[in-house]
Amino acid sequence: MKVLKFGGTSVGSPQRMKDVCKLITEDGQQKLVVLSAMSGTTNSLVEIAQYLYGGNRNGADDVINRLRAKYYAHVPELLEKKANQDKVQKFLEEKFAYLQSFKAAGFSEIEEKAILAQGELISTFMVTAYLQEQGIKAALLPALDFMKTDPDAEPDMVFISKHAEKALADAPGMQIYITQGFICRNADGNIDNLQRGGSDYTASILGAAIKAEEIQIWTDIDGMHNNDPRVVKGTKPVRHLHFEEAAELAYFGAKILHPTCIQPAKAACIPVRLLNTMEPSAPGTLIDNNAEPGRIAAVAAKENITAIKIKSSRMLLAHGFLRKVFEIFETYRTSIDMICTSEVGVSMSIDNTRNLNEIVAELKKYGTVTVDEGMCIICVVGDMEWENLGFESRALDALADIPVRMISYGGSNYNISFLIRESDKTAALQRLSDVLFNGKK
Ligand code: ADP
Ligand code: ASP
Ligand code: MG
Repeated sequence: MKVLKFGGTSVGSPQRMKDVCKLITEDGQQKLVVLSAMSGTTNSLVEIAQYLYGGNRNGADDVINRLRAKYYAHVPELLEKKANQDKVQKFLEEKFAYLQSFKAAGFSEIEEKAILAQGELISTFMVTAYLQEQGIKAALLPALDFMKTDPDAEPDMVFISKHAEKALADAPGMQIYITQGFICRNADGNIDNLQRGGSDYTASILGAAIKAEEIQIWTDIDGMHNNDPRVVKGTKPVRHLHFEEAAELAYFGAKILHPTCIQPAKAACIPVRLLNTMEPSAPGTLIDNNAEPGRIAAVAAKENITAIKIKSSRMLLAHGFLRKVFEIFETYRTSIDMICTSEVGVSMSIDNTRNLNEIVAELKKYGTVTVDEGMCIICVVGDMEWENLGFESRALDALADIPVRMISYGGSNYNISFLIRESDKTAALQRLSDVLFNGKK
């Protein structure tokens, strides 16, 4: 069986939902389909929670009422039969009464997570009702019955495997199984989620859990592009990526894929295909364990990066210095993205600055500390095997006119990363695209 995930844009309106249903039923094959909330819904639910945290009941009610009106209008657009409309209408009424029931007093993360889960619960109910109205044998499998995280907030693969298989077995003979992306239960049994954009992760986890033949991520663009199509002109889809290349790109900002989503598929050796809902016959991007030798595949950028440099004469010929530095970051649960060292100094980049002041204060015990904010990591991904000639120099040449704060190469066989100013990002991405992919000098 294949596992298919459709994002918020792909189920963003009743018409889009119908298009998705056509797409998943056309070939008559059995599928497990993971859906996001309709686009914009999770943001509205976040807003409701923010108002409740702030004690603003009226603010929350305004958002709830707007959302309710929008969803009620979708019902007659999606469904024809009165009985089906009534069924979905009743479900929506329950859901919106539930959203309304949260009190600002004592509002905590537990309630917030329950609110955030409603978008996927609604979209999947609507799509299942539509499939059934069309005479398709479709079952809605509640993700909260099998998607579970352990005390480290990692997916509990043993539990998920066992319970997802059971949910499938309990609804035998269906053509389409629909389930919610993003939402899960945590180790305490409370409703939780896999972080924003986490529906991709659900699909990958489920694909691994049920040993799917393929995981497909469907969105509104043809595959992973070789540069960010939102900021760069002349980008093209990359037709094939190694798991490691895709993971680097996803982590460093190619929004088409959630960074966590590669790991379960890679571990279970299940190919991932990125496909376009608007153009289903386009080839998309295949991600698997095969590397294409001698090629630069793509570029991505991650913003909001802070660089920290620590210079210390004590580092000269000393051992244990790096451990002390890293321990400080560990204490403050801050992960380091890039690192460069010289004999007397270390530069590191982080994206989580919640504990920056504390970290800097501790680092100062060991040397002189400099902080550069508003930085951006540019990650060039491809066959960067160190014995290959010329690849790193091509990327460096392209950036000849841009001030580069750090360069990291050799950490893996698949990437070279540059730390530059955020204000230079667009120019750098365009330049890399022109030189690496479009043959300009
Ligand atoms: P969905 O709701 O389907 O998950 P997202 O909005 O989360 O959709 O992600 C898809 C978007 O990511 C695309 O519309 C595209 O603009 C953007 N994107 C960013 N970088 C890339 C890239 N390198 N290749 C393709 N798309 C990208
Ligand atoms: N609905 C969730 C979000 O907007 C999850 C997802 O779309 O993947 O973040
Ligand atoms: Mg997404």
